Amino acid sequence: MPAATACLQVAVLGHLPRIFSYALPENPERLPPGVRLRVPFGQKSRIGILVGYDHCPPEITLKPIEAVLDTRPLLPESLQQLLNFGAHYYQHPLGDVWAAALPALLRQGRPLPRPAAQAYQLTRHEQTPARPGKLQEALITVLSTSSPTAETEVPARLRPVLRQALHNGWVEALSLPAPRVTTQPLPYPLNAEQRMAVTQLRATQGFTCWLLDGVTGSGKTEVYFETIRPHLEAGRQVLILVPEIGLTPQLLARCQARFGKAAVAALHSAQTDSERLRIWALAAMGHIQLLIGTRSTLFVPMPQLACIVIDEEHDPSFKQHRGWHYSARDMAIQRAKLENIPVILGSATPSLESLYNVQQGRYQSLQLRQRATNAPLPGITIIALRRQYLQGGLSGELLNACSETLAAGNQVLLFLNRRGYAPAVLCHDCGHVLHCPRCSAALTWHRHQQRLRCHHCGYESRWSEDCPECHSTALITAGQGTEQLEEVLRQRFPDTPVWRIDRDALPGREAFSAVLEQIHQNQPAILVGTQMLAKGHHFPAVTLVGIVNTDQGLFSADFRAPERLLQMVLQVAGRAGREDRPGRVLLQTHLPHHPLIQKLSEGDYQQAARLLLEERLQASLPPGTALTLMCAEAHQRAAIQAFLEAAKACAPDSLVISGPQPALLERRAGFERAELWVEAPTRQIMQKALKTWLPCCQQLPEARRVRWFVDVDPQFML
Ligand code: ADP
Ligand code: ZN
Ligand code: ZN
Repeated sequence: MPAATACLQVAVLGHLPRIFSYALPENPERLPPGVRLRVPFGQKSRIGILVGYDHCPPEITLKPIEAVLDTRPLLPESLQQLLNFGAHYYQHPLGDVWAAALPALLRQGRPLPRPAAQAYQLTRHEQTPARPGKLQEALITVLSTSSPTAETEVPARLRPVLRQALHNGWVEALSLPAPRVTTQPLPYPLNAEQRMAVTQLRATQGFTCWLLDGVTGSGKTEVYFETIRPHLEAGRQVLILVPEIGLTPQLLARCQARFGKAAVAALHSAQTDSERLRIWALAAMGHIQLLIGTRSTLFVPMPQLACIVIDEEHDPSFKQHRGWHYSARDMAIQRAKLENIPVILGSATPSLESLYNVQQGRYQSLQLRQRATNAPLPGITIIALRRQYLQGGLSGELLNACSETLAAGNQVLLFLNRRGYAPAVLCHDCGHVLHCPRCSAALTWHRHQQRLRCHHCGYESRWSEDCPECHSTALITAGQGTEQLEEVLRQRFPDTPVWRIDRDALPGREAFSAVLEQIHQNQPAILVGTQMLAKGHHFPAVTLVGIVNTDQGLFSADFRAPERLLQMVLQVAGRAGREDRPGRVLLQTHLPHHPLIQKLSEGDYQQAARLLLEERLQASLPPGTALTLMCAEAHQRAAIQAFLEAAKACAPDSLVISGPQPALLERRAGFERAELWVEAPTRQIMQKALKTWLPCCQQLPEARRVRWFVDVDPQFML
């Protein structure tokens, strides 16, 4: 028998079902796994990652690779292992996992830059431009300091002018040793609870997962800072993950105030690809010591990583819900395990998963029960809406409370998790609700833009002249969104600024920052917003929080809805009265006696969460069991039904499968959608079963007529 030939194993970037084999290069200097290769693929060439070596049967002719793009692996071995783990655990192609982990420019084959740590100064003998442009002027201001200005202190928008100035010779570059943090002292002593937490956290050696469970305003951020300070001062690196880009500027400013600007940076989606790559490369060289970022920042190589912090760990935004369905929180914990370092999960409203892991002894828990500033936690009062006259969804009681608060010189925050003017439009004569033609969802009226919009697929149209069912012209809006609330409030409080905070009013980060600045003037004002307002922000002048519609969260088919409602309400409530002004929370509901509403009004997250967790465990729902959704989409309902039935029939016995059932959103963007609900007693059993089951599903003839994927540990019912 002829000998098998050695070949390269390549994960071609993209959603491809398997690893591909290529011929060894002519002079095979041993290429290390983790380097990028350019490989022929069909008629084109693509970028792939060398993931290993294997032997192929001699009768297969292997194609040669076209080029080797790196001399060294892009990611260290621990991160390569993490991606392998992530591909297996979430049952996703390794090439797509790598693609999600790499910055766009590396994915496209650009060389890895080696940005030297540099500083800049105005050249002494060279004239600055006689009539500088606006950006040039800004650059001159930035550089007009007694000592050279570090690279990291030059704002990204000035980089092109800087390059030009270097070229023209009026700015010069100096090489610097790797930047280091410069710690400022704490402005106040830590309180006893904080000190205790820091002592325990600092004593950790190797991998431990900590849950820092501290009420809103308890000073968790200071606990992170004090815990990581010795690491940073010793020249090591720390990664802080936040759920949302909106939270990065605030945290970055705090981190820089505490640890200096030179070695502290944030990565986020508002940056250009080259800016992101530059920061990535600096972190990989150890020149950024403290890195803040959202989800994918988790994959940035940091050779001196000493600790990972995951702030607001309960936030569902940590779960990626397109492509590779990974949980950034869970993957970060896995990274900490692989690198044998501690990880700190922080939240005022920890997820039931994390609380369960504490119960099981897998995580260590630390608690902060008091607010750092000694401000009391706000009391929560229920307003029963039954038979009350409502103005734009607001009761007289809530409106009066608004007046009082504004008269006292304070700010009001009204929370409504619905964008647009009205969540539905219906026919006054026959009751028909206008639906998206492509989804099983009602259209939202956006009055400002005069558009009917589908929030699921982006469909939009003009206001409909008549009812498609009965042709009556009596179409009316139903329910309230933030736009309508804003309108009602402007009429009612004409002399008070009303700030609407949602994705429509503030599409960009800059707009959001500008409004935050206005709010921080602490003048009387009303803030109206969606969950964008609920997360982590600090509004010192807000003393009244109104939850406009609590009931939406009580009737969802998603088993996580009660947990989310509890977290959301307590997070928003936590925005009230954070400094010297005591706060209160009013919660409007039609169901004042609902057990969850009762729990909410007690304001005790721990107790309420414990009850919800018990209910989950009794109902055999996560985190008591492991859950995976298998979702299928097609134009024909029969095709998805056939596929899911066939898949169910070939499943191993260790899985308990229910369905097929229609997805929560039965039709989206013209596709019918259904799912199987797949349960196993533990995550290990789930893993083992999926590994044998999914390849069988791939082979099914029915699979060719549908789009399908699995979501392991789903966070949203789809
Ligand atoms: P959390 O992250 O738990 O919501 P923060 O760390 O943002 O809380 O702290 C809330 C507020 O309390 C901040 O304004 C912070 O400066 C202040 N703070 C934190 N620790 C102390 C302390 N020990 N003494 C006084 N103020 C503190
Ligand atoms: Zn009608
Ligand atoms: Zn739609």
